[in-house]
Amino acid sequence: MISIEPEKSEQGQGPKEFILRDATVVTMDDDRNAYESGFVWVRGDRIHRVGDVTALRDVPSSVAVSSARGRIILPGLVNAHGHLSNGILRGIYDEMPLSVWFAKGMWPVLEALDAQLGRIGAELALLELMTTGVTTTVSAEFGTPRKDLPDGVLAAIGQAHARALVSRMTVDGDDDTDPSQAVPAAYREDCAEAVKEVERLQRRYASPTITVAPEALGVLRCTPEMIEAMHDLAIRTGSPFLMHIASSKDEHERSHARFGHGSITELKRLGALSPRTLLAHAIWLDDTEIRHIAEAQAGVSHNPVANAYYASGIARLADLLGAGVRVGLGVDGASTNNGQNVWETMKLALLLQKERTGNAGFGSAELALELMTRGGAAALHMEDRIGSLVAGKQADFICIDVSRTTLAPRQTLISNLVYSSDPHAVRDVYVAGEAVVVDGVHRFLDRESIVAAAEEALEKVLERSGLKSYLASRSSWRWRRGEA
Ligand SMILES: [Zn+2]
Repeated sequence: MISIEPEKSEQGQGPKEFILRDATVVTMDDDRNAYESGFVWVRGDRIHRVGDVTALRDVPSSVAVSSARGRIILPGLVNAHGHLSNGILRGIYDEMPLSVWFAKGMWPVLEALDAQLGRIGAELALLELMTTGVTTTVSAEFGTPRKDLPDGVLAAIGQAHARALVSRMTVDGDDDTDPSQAVPAAYREDCAEAVKEVERLQRRYASPTITVAPEALGVLRCTPEMIEAMHDLAIRTGSPFLMHIASSKDEHERSHARFGHGSITELKRLGALSPRTLLAHAIWLDDTEIRHIAEAQAGVSHNPVANAYYASGIARLADLLGAGVRVGLGVDGASTNNGQNVWETMKLALLLQKERTGNAGFGSAELALELMTRGGAAALHMEDRIGSLVAGKQADFICIDVSRTTLAPRQTLISNLVYSSDPHAVRDVYVAGEAVVVDGVHRFLDRESIVAAAEEALEKVLERSGLKSYLASRSSWRWRRGEA
């Protein structure tokens, strides 16, 4: 189809410009304008104009114009929470209780996950995310015990031409009384070291499309000093500040036992609940804490599939939205999902909330698409740059083939996009005005070599972590090889 590589202007000067016209264009702008036959005009890395084709006049001959008939153009999808390095860990943790997941599943694997293996995991995850419409993704990565794991992930992001917010997760808590929250010594670091490493990553990788941010991994696994140091660093370097928080009933109860209140209240008490803050999960909240999040203008990533995978509870999405909280949706890592399917996430977010509230009238497909675009942008505190198709914003958008079986009949197209989700209906993906996925194929990530490398990489991780026998023990079937 239609996908075109923007050319230099005829004079060879000025930014590249191109127009896609005759598509259904859903802008997600503040007035929610949608054009049945619209155009998107891209100049350089930004959106120059969006509108109805009848308003398309005075187009200089140097601007490449292509028809995108049969496509719906949406803002690029924003995955508000993930762990790209975990791309190769798909399927390992099925049915493992969250109470032993860190001790038995995650800590041993992290010891094995170096920059090279992390990069392969990130490439696999990015391939899935981007070919199905994600232009911006969050990735939270451990900086201990392997200092270079974030480097591998950031290299993959650069290779993939993705927009990303990467947090470096740190832990320093030494409370070993609780096995579900205990942190092995090799993973702990002091505040000065954590600050130094975030600053190193920022210096090396920050770019117009990549943001590096600090993250303290939870109020129970970090000391107050570490949480404050990471939040201060975010303010000083102008980045967001990330937290995994209120993500299980266990954490909720232990937080009340230790502090006398919930973990959001503790974060507020430490001065780290602010317009810089992006919270992952935020399931176990009381009404006051929801109000605190709204008042602080902090963002929340709601991760319905990962939360259900570990039976962690259904977040109070309806109440968060009702309070005016900035909410986006996230798939979380392949170690807690296992897919990276944002379309499934949109559908589950709606269905689980209908169950939680006992109200089939909750939400809409339009709401799910808004959460996955402008909602995510607001949660990441990036709404001035991404999340909607508005002149001056970054040209991050996706083209979907509306002739797919699952999207018929056309009269209910928006509902079909979410409730009959078909991730590969996404054909073309643009990041900062550049065609990154063309007709379903990623231009910078080679699928065959990444899939082959992922298999080899997981083999190494399973051997080094001792999880190979665990995986084998899980099947009750009689697997046979070479027998009559
Ligand atoms: Zn996570």
